[in-house]
Amino acid sequence: MRWNNATTGRWTHRLIPNLTPWLQRRHGQVDFYLTQMISGHGCFKEYLHRFKHEPNPYCDHCGTGSIEDAEHALFICPLFVRYRAEAETTTVCNLTADNVMSCTLESQSKWDAIANMAAGILKELRRRERSRRIQS
Ligand SMILES: [Zn+2]
Repeated sequence: MRWNNATTGRWTHRLIPNLTPWLQRRHGQVDFYLTQMISGHGCFKEYLHRFKHEPNPYCDHCGTGSIEDAEHALFICPLFVRYRAEAETTTVCNLTADNVMSCTLESQSKWDAIANMAAGILKELRRRERSRRIQS
């Protein structure tokens, strides 16, 4: 299988541009939340909006200028700065979509820190989605 835009989404390809080191890693279990991060299929408003589960794709925290996609939630939105800061302290990386997966490959502790970040942010997004549904 060729690892390119034809077989994977652009987001996944951006996170994992080179499949070989990813497949040859000696540590790191891909859990439920990392799967959401890597696929971009989580409670991101842009994703939910695509399936008409949300009236708009915008981040409630940042406003209409910002689409809440995986990159926004995981790496940009100030709402989740504490999850990011925690992971960056452990990884000593300034985490972005372009370096996060190579950072996970450096050690088990970096992997765990980033998995925790993804879990924290994605659980919070799920909670926020639920509360929007209850209110509407
Ligand atoms: Zn935001």
